[in-house]
Amino acid sequence: MLVSNRLPVTVGETIAPSSGGLVSALEGYIQSRDFQWIGWIGGAIDDPVRRRRVQEELEQRYHYHPLFLTPEQVAEFYTGFSNSSLWPLLHYQPGYARYDRKWYATYRHVNGLFAEEIDAQAAPGQLVWIQDYHLMLLPEMLRNRRPDLRVGFFLHTPFPSYEVFRCHPNREDLLNGLLGADLVGFHTSGYLRHFRSTVLRILGLESRMSTIATETHDVSIDVFPISIPAEKFAAEMTSPAFETHLDKYRRIYADKKVVLGVERLDYSKGVLRRLDAIETYLKRSGRRDIVFIFINVPSRENVSAYRRLRHDIEVKVGHINGRFSTITDVPIHFIHQSVAFSELCALYKLADVAMVTPEIDGMNIVAKEYVVCQDDGDGALILSEFAGAAQELHQAYLINPYDVDGMAQALDAALNASLETRRKRMAPMRERVRRYHARRWGETFVRSLEAHSREGRGGDAHPRRLTGEMMSDFLRSSRAALFLDYDGTLSPLRRHPADAAPGDVLHRLFRLFARVGHRIDIYLMSGRGCAQMERWFHGYGMHLVAENGLFYRHPEADTWARFDNNADLGWIQEVADTLQQYSDMTPGSEVEVKTASLVWHYRNSEPEFGRWKAHQMVDELREWLANFPVTIHHGQKIVEVGSMLLNKGVFFQHLKALNRYPRALCAGDDETDESMFRVAEDADLTVKVGEGETAARYAVSSCHGLCNLLRDTLETVAGEQPAT
Ligand code: UDP
Repeated sequence: MLVSNRLPVTVGETIAPSSGGLVSALEGYIQSRDFQWIGWIGGAIDDPVRRRRVQEELEQRYHYHPLFLTPEQVAEFYTGFSNSSLWPLLHYQPGYARYDRKWYATYRHVNGLFAEEIDAQAAPGQLVWIQDYHLMLLPEMLRNRRPDLRVGFFLHTPFPSYEVFRCHPNREDLLNGLLGADLVGFHTSGYLRHFRSTVLRILGLESRMSTIATETHDVSIDVFPISIPAEKFAAEMTSPAFETHLDKYRRIYADKKVVLGVERLDYSKGVLRRLDAIETYLKRSGRRDIVFIFINVPSRENVSAYRRLRHDIEVKVGHINGRFSTITDVPIHFIHQSVAFSELCALYKLADVAMVTPEIDGMNIVAKEYVVCQDDGDGALILSEFAGAAQELHQAYLINPYDVDGMAQALDAALNASLETRRKRMAPMRERVRRYHARRWGETFVRSLEAHSREGRGGDAHPRRLTGEMMSDFLRSSRAALFLDYDGTLSPLRRHPADAAPGDVLHRLFRLFARVGHRIDIYLMSGRGCAQMERWFHGYGMHLVAENGLFYRHPEADTWARFDNNADLGWIQEVADTLQQYSDMTPGSEVEVKTASLVWHYRNSEPEFGRWKAHQMVDELREWLANFPVTIHHGQKIVEVGSMLLNKGVFFQHLKALNRYPRALCAGDDETDESMFRVAEDADLTVKVGEGETAARYAVSSCHGLCNLLRDTLETVAGEQPAT
């Protein structure tokens, strides 16, 4: 099922299919699959009878499920929030961004209407592919409403750097909305990198190259550069309409070089600076044998910024034409209209040079369309480095759209290049677009979404992964014991440690622990203090171990016991002073003083700076404390200095021997847990949560992976009779 803001139709007196960037990219894909499409019809219909007629026709003729929005909803959801608030920020233009709380409320409401419609139409487990920035909250809404659906999201715009995205008042909600998807796709690796960095800085969620682990599931992230239905262009270029247009233009521009620009009239497209470059070039070269054709398709004219831009462009075009026209020749033909497809193809074929100079553009389809229509390979493409397409079409004349002089030079180079040079540049670009066409784009995305689902929606792809069978096998052995770390193991790491209180999912798991408590001893091993552990975990029959093994509380005891009173702790004060100095120099970090250890937390500092300071601190402490009875761990956003004689490993060994557990399972995510893994025996199951070097023999990729395994296997065990 496809979901986009607009259905690809124009609803007037009759209903006609419409085109556009997204539609033409999806066209190839659509033809190849049986699909449904949900979206807004693009206008308002008040009359209920007509609404029903339109709905029936769309459903029967096209398999489309229309959404009807009121003019107020369109003004606030579409014109307001989507196009005046999100669009400018996604395109690095905070200056154009407007914001109104009411818009956001309507955006949320309309995303909710989409969720309702999808819920009504989607079969169990169906694949749902959501398109673009109008629907950023929808993935999370669907996950809450229909967890069975497999949801993909593709962003057709750039994803900007954190510094820009952070300007948005609803930044957290928008990111959480997207992370409801199973797969989020971007045009380029740069946008993906910005997204990961933004999620880390705003939500505090770490990611690997291809996965972000949230509290409840893993989200795959990947790069899928959109393409065009190349065969549709090739077919059009054999049509009589195309030939007629081409013949006509060839006659009109017989002794001219033609330079073409095609775009929606949008401030991201760099039209004003391109005009400056053209003016510079005309002045410098003195050439009058060039005609510049600008097809500027009207766009978003109810947004004032677009009306102002149109005015500015028209003034500049008038100025240049006034300056360089002769009685017979006008250099710039500015067309503020869309043109028919056959005419567009003829212009692409005719143009000696295409100037595609956006200041930023998610992909820019026009660049690819031009390349595909240059079937003799003799044109030249001038392309902005800041268009996603530049990643693939790097044989173009790449320009920086802010460098007016550089653009004028590129124009000179492109117009004067030899036929051999032009063909050499064009051939690999044509090959790329013809091979990686729109259908391949769609298929690749859907295949990735299916693969994510096959792996169990966030399932574990680790080579030594712990499986359900291993866990069941272990739990059925008599007198099994579980030693489980909490933060980063059962509960994802949070920006503020106090935010990691167990939620519903963990409470359910703890209740399961209580049900199997008569057969399986469960130790919760944390670096946290006694008071907090008692508050969060008491009452589920668990053995609680605080401060990494220093304090222990039996499920039936009223008080905590201290494990070892004899360790030398004379170093604590001096080390605390050093940690405090680092803390002062690293905004956002803090020192936690415990009974037998000190922890420097840098989770809330700027991630790269915090990591760098942590390395510096560890080097300094290792040198200074080489002869002290301490261990220094650089863990997940913490540096911990603790007594060598007091750690989870020592305590684990002690309890195992005392209770004569034949087998134990230890699970943990950081260096404090490695002390358990290192002393575990062959019969024990040692499990690392997450990536990285470890002494554990098995791994799971995320907290939620481990919790799912525990839940599934313990539920089976809870229903069985105890082993005798
Ligand atoms: N286009 C169109 N009518 C026109 C001129 C262009 O439908 O008169 C199409 C063009 O063929 C391309 C799309 O509009 O497929 C523009 O896509 P692009 O990615 O370049 O920009 P967007 O509008 O998505 O920002």
